[in-house]
Amino acid sequence: MHVIYGGTFDPVHHGHLRLAIELCDRLGVDRVHLLPCHIPPHRGDTGASAAQRLRLLSLAVAGEPRLVVDDRELRRGGASYTADTLRHLRRELGPETPLAMVVGTDAFAGFYRWREWVEIPALAHIVVVRRPGPGLTPDSAPARLLAERRVGSPQALHEVPAGRILELNPPWLDISATGIRERIAAGRSPRYLLPDAVWSEIRQLGLYGACPEGNF
Ligand code: ATP
Repeated sequence: MHVIYGGTFDPVHHGHLRLAIELCDRLGVDRVHLLPCHIPPHRGDTGASAAQRLRLLSLAVAGEPRLVVDDRELRRGGASYTADTLRHLRRELGPETPLAMVVGTDAFAGFYRWREWVEIPALAHIVVVRRPGPGLTPDSAPARLLAERRVGSPQALHEVPAGRILELNPPWLDISATGIRERIAAGRSPRYLLPDAVWSEIRQLGLYGACPEGNF
């Protein structure tokens, strides 16, 4: 099974990385593909560029064969829609290989606003990772989709190529990229919230307002 886990990763942190390892274990796969997405221009001013986010991700997964970076959405440039990305992957993998995309409950709650969302279950399974906070609104489109397609075990995802939804409730580290960016901008250290190699590169590049000599 091919598993993709998308996000802005601005910057990648231990919450993302720990979840990716949990996914390998719980889904019974050898690797998870981290897929950084394009950031809309209105967010670009405070964050890192696509090339910088990619560099930070590569440093974060160095030496960990289970975590693989897939830079297809950044290479394509411009807005990328999940349905298009899944179609490309489906062409590469062929019709039989199970394909799963991971989303947090918050993203899944707004799923029906994604472009061509009705096409997505035909292309991939969805793994919904429970985040603290409000769950799905009862009787909303995502809640109905979940009720129709929910499976009880990861094994069920390996049996067919697409169309099933699995909910997972892995331990959640209380770390967010927003919190890390704010901390750095305020001159405080984000150490131990993200890999040291990532933090040192952030300082080197002066990202998020970091100053190469400070923020320890
Ligand atoms: P931001 O604070 O900039 O919104 P973020 O830390 O939430 O960023 P994203 O890159 O937006 O990170 O998230 C990518 C994916 O990682 C999403 O599916 C999100 O639900 C998940 N995620 C975010 N934070 C954590 C965490 N602490 N543990 C596990 N998964 C997380």
